[in-house]
Amino acid sequence: MSEHIFKGFNIEYPVYTIQTPHTGIVLEVRCLNVAEVAKLKSSITTAARVPFILNRVVYSSIVNKPAYMRDFESFSKMITTRDREALLYGLYQATFSNEVESIGVVCQECNEKEKLNLKLSDMMTVDMYPKTLEGVYKAHKYGNPLEFQPDSVMEESISRTENIPDEEPPEGLSDEDQIQWAKDRADAKREAALVQSKQSPPPPQTVNSDILDREVRVTLPLSKIVAVLKVPTVSDEELVLTDKATINRELRDLLSELMIISRFEIYDSNQTMTGAVTGRDDVLIGYQQLPSKDRLHIFDEYKKEFGQYGVSLNQHWSCNQCDSENEYGMDITEQFFRMVVR
Ligand SMILES: [Zn+2]
Repeated sequence: MSEHIFKGFNIEYPVYTIQTPHTGIVLEVRCLNVAEVAKLKSSITTAARVPFILNRVVYSSIVNKPAYMRDFESFSKMITTRDREALLYGLYQATFSNEVESIGVVCQECNEKEKLNLKLSDMMTVDMYPKTLEGVYKAHKYGNPLEFQPDSVMEESISRTENIPDEEPPEGLSDEDQIQWAKDRADAKREAALVQSKQSPPPPQTVNSDILDREVRVTLPLSKIVAVLKVPTVSDEELVLTDKATINRELRDLLSELMIISRFEIYDSNQTMTGAVTGRDDVLIGYQQLPSKDRLHIFDEYKKEFGQYGVSLNQHWSCNQCDSENEYGMDITEQFFRMVVR
């Protein structure tokens, strides 16, 4: 008798399709298996390792990866941390359940405690980054002209960006801002030309990278230092956390805040740049010296430019005790790990 070797089941896993709100990639994730949930569960005891294990589990759960996402490294450079939240939502739906029972909430008016039974699909909204949404719309329009259903709101928004007249740069811009101004216009023109030529754009070989390339300069109100903000990718996050092997919670929180700052720039009174702080350790030192109000300004500006786009889960509820209206916002990552450790 030959020894029987069990090679495993041939299981068709449930899948969930989701579009990343920052970079606009449509991906299908399959439900996690027992081994993956166990791996995530064990990661929790070493908090510093959580993102590393989570990122790899998310990556391996993606089925039918697009050609441009050929390995973990390319995935980590085209998925922002906010996109990962959307993928986690998909993973949650594929692995656990749409219904969440007995979520404890507190009325903000009378402090009455209640338990809510929720449906995630009713709570979920996606706010796509506008430029990405436009890119996705155009790719669909020229990619499937026969099946295409025009959307009047989208068409109007696109025609606004296309009809940009020729003009001189505004007076009084610094050299750097003039370069940025010219770059922005070239981008706008290129987009417009693509549509006017009425030709199908080539099929996407790579991800819509507008949001990944974008930098936002913010002059801080008290220190007058310029913070250059960008959206952190999964790769940025790993680079920041990886250096600090024996990381403590305080430092980790600081580094997480710092991920949205690409660098600092220093200008003199003539608006000439006199220095830049680029190394991660130097950015950390500089960041800690900023007046607290400047830190809040950074977050406000980031939220305005990038932070409002993503997947969010909100539930409106009325208090049984005092009839006040309340809003409950669920953090998908927290809820995901609540189910992992259960
Ligand atoms: Zn109440």
